[in-house]
Amino acid sequence: MMVDKKNLEKKYSIGVDLGGTNIVSAIVNYQGKIVSRLKVPTLAEKGKEATVKRIIEAIHKNIAQSTITPDDIIGIGIGAPGPLDIKRGIINFAPNLPGWRDIPLKKILEDEFNMKIVLENDANAAAWGERCFGAGQGINNLVCFTLGTGIGGGIIIDGKIYHGNNCGAGELGHMTVNKDGPRCNCGNYGCLEAFSSATGIKNRIKSRIKEGIKSDFLNFDSDDELLDSIRLKSIFETARKGDKLTKDIVKEAISYLGIAIANITNILNPEMVVLVGGITNEGDKLLIPLKEEVKKRAFYSNYKSLKIVIGELGGNAGVLGAAALLWIPVNRSY
Ligand SMILES: [Zn+2]
Repeated sequence: MMVDKKNLEKKYSIGVDLGGTNIVSAIVNYQGKIVSRLKVPTLAEKGKEATVKRIIEAIHKNIAQSTITPDDIIGIGIGAPGPLDIKRGIINFAPNLPGWRDIPLKKILEDEFNMKIVLENDANAAAWGERCFGAGQGINNLVCFTLGTGIGGGIIIDGKIYHGNNCGAGELGHMTVNKDGPRCNCGNYGCLEAFSSATGIKNRIKSRIKEGIKSDFLNFDSDDELLDSIRLKSIFETARKGDKLTKDIVKEAISYLGIAIANITNILNPEMVVLVGGITNEGDKLLIPLKEEVKKRAFYSNYKSLKIVIGELGGNAGVLGAAALLWIPVNRSY
């Protein structure tokens, strides 16, 4: 839909972040201001039909609770876990959404809402959010790492999301950083995600405890479920208190993330690397050792011109990016 510039200020788009735990829907204006936001649990365990219904209900509810009329909404952008076929608007498979195989989400939502629907990988949506409304405004060559339970990534080249041959680009969490490393959720060994995601860090602590290495502060068995529920923040605090076990694991996690950033810096020579996700709450305690690692490994000319920053949109990067897919041409015809 073409939007008349004069009427831009009265128009809105909807961004949806479809996660394994929550569905977030937000109505967003063209400047990235959220005017209405709704979060509901995904309840993925209830099956795909129920989850699709919850997505539809969440969007309807989000519109109803706002003062915006559907006529002023130019479309809906969905950030979804992959792998996706974004051209056809199909979610091929989603590890966190049981039973999701080849779901034509774009078509389902088009039929329901009679609006333009754009589907995008969730990490690409977060990268696009930071590019359009956050830390990366005006930056045309940018790489975004989403650091959470897993690690995702989005690559912006020449101001456009880079999708690769069949929408599979940007899986930064699954670059091998150590051929002898631990098994990753994807089945490979030694992926970045297995070292530097929240799950990776916890699993590394567990395996050290299993090896008989004691922690001065954490009182866990290797199979203790308590460790799963502990917040990453507490692990970093424990490391700072001087606990050798957690200190080593945290140091290793940051170091491998630095290796990954150095690799991507030498391959793509981006202007900016944006980090989003829980671990970024550590601020300089993360950034300073991380930059040292990147500096050590990347070509100096590439490192010198690189900004490594923490995202500005927090948990809203995904919904804002999904909404922004409607506003800013992404150079794609679907
Ligand atoms: Zn992997």
